[in-house]
Amino acid sequence: MRSPIPDYLQEVLQNCSADTSGHVADYIPELARADPDRRALAVATVDGSTYGSGDDEHQFTIQSISKPFIYALAIDDIGLQAVLEAVGVEPSGEAFNELSLEGGTGRPLNPMINAGAIAAHQLLNAESKDTEHKDSEHRGTADRRPTAPEHPARTDEVQRRTDRVLTGLSACAGRDLSIDYEAAESEYRDAYRNLAIAHMLRTHEVITNEPVEAVRGYIDQCAVLVTVRDIALMAATLANNGVQPCTGERVVSAKASRQALSVMTTCGMYDASGAWLARIGIPAKSGVSGGIIGVLPGQVGIASFSPRLDAAGNSVQGVEMFERLSQDMGLHLMSNEQPSNTAVRGIRTITEEGTSTSRIRLQGTIRFSGAERVLRSVVAASESGQLEDRIRLDLSRVESVSETGVRMLGELIRRLEEAGYGVAVDDPEGVCPHR
Ligand code: GLN
Repeated sequence: MRSPIPDYLQEVLQNCSADTSGHVADYIPELARADPDRRALAVATVDGSTYGSGDDEHQFTIQSISKPFIYALAIDDIGLQAVLEAVGVEPSGEAFNELSLEGGTGRPLNPMINAGAIAAHQLLNAESKDTEHKDSEHRGTADRRPTAPEHPARTDEVQRRTDRVLTGLSACAGRDLSIDYEAAESEYRDAYRNLAIAHMLRTHEVITNEPVEAVRGYIDQCAVLVTVRDIALMAATLANNGVQPCTGERVVSAKASRQALSVMTTCGMYDASGAWLARIGIPAKSGVSGGIIGVLPGQVGIASFSPRLDAAGNSVQGVEMFERLSQDMGLHLMSNEQPSNTAVRGIRTITEEGTSTSRIRLQGTIRFSGAERVLRSVVAASESGQLEDRIRLDLSRVESVSETGVRMLGELIRRLEEAGYGVAVDDPEGVCPHR
């Protein structure tokens, strides 16, 4: 039997093919030559299965989709506080390549526009871990990479940063990625706008290298080749708190992953971010070559590819595909489709050999709201004199307890014991580890 998911993706792809408005990006000559009719859609789950449809093996340059990942890597390299001092987290409401900095601080507004992305790239630790103390397996990978063409701005430091970019993005995709140096060259030749941005950053000392070096590194980053399956897996890595779902490698910390996702949510679709969030409700990032990734934390990474762009620089058909998926599959973050969780299955008195015990049976997934229900029910039962002196807290039907849930249940037990109850916990699966 065939899984219905690839068929469904195929159907979405087909149903979103009519609108051929928009244009391929032409300010990068290599992108201007892209076949506008290539299209693909992929989904990767946090437990590592991927589904693809259409031109899902076609490679294109990652462009701005690299931005949230490089931001996350920079946070792990130099710490969140240092990154925040250099790059803000406010939506700009402007085009991706706007020459703008925050009044007063001189910081780029956020890492999803070019100014912030060039700065974030420069924050990567150029003291390469690859060459110093990476294990031989990783060194091997770095050694096998095609060497970059000679260019005066590709200094050793720039090259070390590019190695960090390639190693990090490859780890997210779960395979060795490479750079399309021709595409990079064609963008670099006319990169006057990004150079202007870098000069502006240098003036404000947001970056300390030469502007040409910053732009060189950033443009090489944008020219990493990916398929829609790769970027779906990269998105799934963020959905999975920074752990690559197939390899199990922790690529970025949970904290960096959450920070990158938060900024994607408010800034990822440029000046269309607000409308996107309201309509589609999936943290997302788009790139000028026609890709879009979407991340549903704890669930899936989604990726689309179609090169015709709308006025904001987002893929026309990609936006439509995401809208379709969000509607059909109930993926909007702000619509809560989960049935409300009744964490307390029941409180009953059981009498065995003359001793009575209150058995409190819990169930499902216990997070803040579930734990609150447990506390509320138990407190009410105790106040109405319904609780026996001996209590058995039965967790055998509980699927999982969040950290907050563990703390709240722990506090409940502590207070019950303080009040003189004897509490025993049945936790055969060890879902509530601190008890
Ligand atoms: N390399 C492109 C640029 O800097 C990336 C922009 C994008 O994908 N929106 O212009």
